[in-house]
Amino acid sequence: MQEDIKEKRYIYGPVPSRRLGFSLGVDLVPYKVCTYDCIYCQLGKTIKKTIQRKEYIERREILLQIGKALLTKQKIDFITFSGSGEPTLNTGIGFLIRETKRLTNIPVAVITNGSLLYNEKVRKSLLEADLVVPSLDAARERTFKFINRPPSSLKFDNIVRGLLEFRKEFRGKIWLEIMLVKDVNNSAEEVKLFESIIGKAAFDRIQLNTVVRPPCVISTLPLGIQELRKIKNIFGEKCEIVSDFKKELQKTTFRKNAERILEMIKRRPVTVQDISASLGLNRNEVVKYLDIFRKNGKIKILNFKGKHYYGAR
Ligand code: SF4
Repeated sequence: MQEDIKEKRYIYGPVPSRRLGFSLGVDLVPYKVCTYDCIYCQLGKTIKKTIQRKEYIERREILLQIGKALLTKQKIDFITFSGSGEPTLNTGIGFLIRETKRLTNIPVAVITNGSLLYNEKVRKSLLEADLVVPSLDAARERTFKFINRPPSSLKFDNIVRGLLEFRKEFRGKIWLEIMLVKDVNNSAEEVKLFESIIGKAAFDRIQLNTVVRPPCVISTLPLGIQELRKIKNIFGEKCEIVSDFKKELQKTTFRKNAERILEMIKRRPVTVQDISASLGLNRNEVVKYLDIFRKNGKIKILNFKGKHYYGAR
C-alpha cells in the first residue's frame, strides 16, 4: 500500500466532466481516506474512515504536479480538488487553493462531502476557491447514518449548520449536490425536509444525482428519471438533474474500456496503476471497472510484495 502511494500521481486528466467541462483532477488524500463510507460510493468501501485532518499528501509535491500539468497547455476549464476520498481532510487544502490561483487564472473547484464544514478552519481554508460543490444526501439524522455511514462523532445537525454557515461566509458559487437513492432518501417526508434546509440558504444550484455507477452496497438502487424530475420541480428553478441518462453512449464507452482492461489483465497480472498509465484512464475510473469484474467473478486479486495485482480467473 505504501509503495502504491509513493508511486501515485496526484493529478489526473484533464477529464471531460459534464458539470465542469475539462477538469484537471487533484487528489489530496490517498485512496479512500474519507470521513464517510457511503452506501453508493463508486470507489468501494472506505479504507480509512477518519475525521483527523493532517497533511496526508505533501502540499509542495501536489503543487509541483499542478504546476507541471499547467505547463502542458492542455485545455482546462476547472482545476478540481476532489479525488478518491475527502479532500478537506488534507490540512494543505487552503494553501493549495491559494497557490494554484497564483499560478493560473483557471477557476478552482472543490468537490467535498461537506462533513467538515462545521469546523471553522475548514470553512476558512475554502474561501478562495471559485466554486464549492458540497453534498448533502440526507435531511435527517437516521438517513444520514444509513446512507453516509459516518463515524459516531459526526452529527447531522452540525453538518447542516456548517453548510449554512459556509454559505454565509463564502463569496464564490456553491452547487449543492444531493445523491438520491431509491427507498432511502426520496420519500415525500424526506423531500420536504430537504426543501426546508435548502430554503435556508442561497445556494447557486441544487444538483440531483442518482446511483448510475456500481455502488459499494449492491442493493443501493437509483431513482428513475420521472422520479428525479418530480423532485426537481419541487426544489424549483435552481435545481437540475446531473445524472447521465445517455445510456447508449455510456454503454458504448463502457464496453470499450471494459474490453481493453480485460485484455490487459488476460496477458499478465497488473496493478491499478499499470492499467491507468497504459490506457490513459483515471485511476478512480479503473477501480470502478475492476470492482465490477471482481463481482462478476472475471478477475481475482493477488498480493505480491504488499501490492495488489489483478489477474484473470
Ligand atoms: S462517495 Fe465520496 S464521501 Fe462517500 S465514501 Fe465515497 S469518497 Fe467518501
